[in-house]
Amino acid sequence: MPELIEVETYRQAASEALHRTVSGVDAFHDSYVRSSGGVSRLRSSLLHNELSAVERIGKLLVLRIGGTSVGVRFGMTGRLVVDGQVSIAELLYTTNEIKKSHIRFVVTFEEGGDLAIVDPRSFGSVELGFETSRLGIDALKLTPNVMATLLNGSKGTLKSILLNQSKISGLGNLLCDEVLWRAGISPLRIGNSINEIEILRLSEVILKTISELSARGGSHMGDLQSQRRTGGICPIDGAPLLRQVVAGRTTWWCPAHQS
Ligand SMILES: [Zn+2]
Repeated sequence: MPELIEVETYRQAASEALHRTVSGVDAFHDSYVRSSGGVSRLRSSLLHNELSAVERIGKLLVLRIGGTSVGVRFGMTGRLVVDGQVSIAELLYTTNEIKKSHIRFVVTFEEGGDLAIVDPRSFGSVELGFETSRLGIDALKLTPNVMATLLNGSKGTLKSILLNQSKISGLGNLLCDEVLWRAGISPLRIGNSINEIEILRLSEVILKTISELSARGGSHMGDLQSQRRTGGICPIDGAPLLRQVVAGRTTWWCPAHQS
């Protein structure tokens, strides 16, 4: 569930630890480390090096340490805890309680403090030397021209294109549904059927929605959110919402005004 908005909050929290030197690296489940060599290679690459930069691309947090980088994915329930401070108290689909057994990865620093990933469902991961070129453009950098290029010639559904992190980076299921609902476009439309006016509208709505929901406190603060349930109605026109699996994800949308 952490989408661009939540990971941006994590990035800001992680920047508190900038310029500290790594004194310890622990991953409590080897499977949480995706790169070859597992936790031992990760540890030897990071130890005694400085955290020099913290970046975010879409939903990925990138820690630049020494000459390498660590990509952190937060999966569905991952949270970043810096120096014992939880940066997001409430996250959908997970408990707000921090249990020791849910700590998956910790970097400790010579100067004191640490950076920990707490992830109850453990769908997240860390990866040494993550290649950021595998990710599409960050959703906050989208322009109508880029959007047009992504949609032209695409035979996939609009929702599948927006969710595809190698095309657009940062939009998760909740943001996608909110954006399409606000833009009045059906998630089932085929990419290359989206016209110029719709592309303009969609690009504007994406930026505006991210900014609004960031100010409200998260991806789950959308206007559609309370109606994502059986019997939910469209907050714009009162029509019953449709629940459908699109691109493998539960999708709520309004057949009355999204076309
Ligand atoms: Zn509607």
